[in-house]
Amino acid sequence: MDRDGWEGGRLLINLAAIAENYAQLSARVSPAECGAAVKANAYGLGLKEVGQTLYEAGCRTFFVAHLAEGAALRPLVGEDSRIFVLHGPPPGTANACLTHNLLPVLNSLQQVQEWQALAHAQGHPLAAALQVDSGMSRFGLTEAEVDYLATQPQALAGIEVTLVMSHLACADTPDHPLNRQQLNAFIKLKQLLPAAPASLAASSGIFLGPEWHFDLVRPGAALYGIAPTAGQPNPMHATLRLQARVIQTRQVPAGASVGYGAAFTARQPTPVALLGIGYGDGFPRRLGQKGFVIYPDWPDIKLPIIGRISMDSLAVDLSPLVAAGVALPPAGAVFDLIGPHAPLDDVAHLADTIAYELLTDLGARYHRLHYDPRKG
Ligand SMILES: *Cc1c(COP(=O)(O)O)cnc(C)c1O
Repeated sequence: MDRDGWEGGRLLINLAAIAENYAQLSARVSPAECGAAVKANAYGLGLKEVGQTLYEAGCRTFFVAHLAEGAALRPLVGEDSRIFVLHGPPPGTANACLTHNLLPVLNSLQQVQEWQALAHAQGHPLAAALQVDSGMSRFGLTEAEVDYLATQPQALAGIEVTLVMSHLACADTPDHPLNRQQLNAFIKLKQLLPAAPASLAASSGIFLGPEWHFDLVRPGAALYGIAPTAGQPNPMHATLRLQARVIQTRQVPAGASVGYGAAFTARQPTPVALLGIGYGDGFPRRLGQKGFVIYPDWPDIKLPIIGRISMDSLAVDLSPLVAAGVALPPAGAVFDLIGPHAPLDDVAHLADTIAYELLTDLGARYHRLHYDPRKG
């Protein structure tokens, strides 16, 4: 955690916190199994480190969106783990699941038929998950398609159904009536299919209660510290800190403007720090004139982001530090943009988005530093 190798912004990722979150969710859903969604580069936190940490924490079932993500994950986790590909194979690529030892989630009759054809060509049954649509109208078989599969004895021949799953649309809002409607629809649909372990809940669904747990849950967000339930205290550990360095500081005279579009004008002489992070790093441009940063030694002082955010930099008003009698930070000083005093969910909210988007937008440009306090 020194100056080595980073200039603009860096992400500090606490792998022990991710492992603790996994243990907490596992305990909450026991005896159901706790899997992990690691799609989109483990929500931007790094597939390799996060995948290995979760495997070491006991996770044996992983979910990715794309085949390529599954192929990247396969060598990082033990052969005793399952990797489900949520989108299923694109047309004509089912074979790649076998090559990389991935299990497809079959979402449509076309995907069912392609998987069946592959099983036939291989001469033995092939395992897969079946997804049903319980009311989100996203992926999965409709009720009519499930009925069709249920009444045609040959329709699933050659497919070993290892999981029946569906996904909730409103689980972060416990009072939403769709939660129970989807639960009931899921129970009904899965009874029409071959008996198999079932999975309905992602992070937020876990907190709806045991009825939603079935045999396997699939959290992503909560593992990475995102609050599972809107408006409730966050029971998860924060896992990341986003930091940026001061490139230079300047005194902006009264009447001068700061940044593109002259969107901010100093009313009095204003000490300003330019930080080397911007929207090119995935830091939301919407936080211009709205966001704040923290100088870690003075965690209670919020320093406003002034003017528009540039591609590679943003400007911060240091006046509150001066008012508190703190010496101005030198070039190279490190500020927190997300951290203990600027929680991920709060920063996302200020930027009119959700923590999921904020995390996955954090670009490839960052220096990512994974650390594990358990391992020193
Ligand atoms: C992304 C995803 C998950 C994980 O969702 P979180 O809200 O991040 O816990 C689980 N299941 C499916 C089908 C998903 O697409």
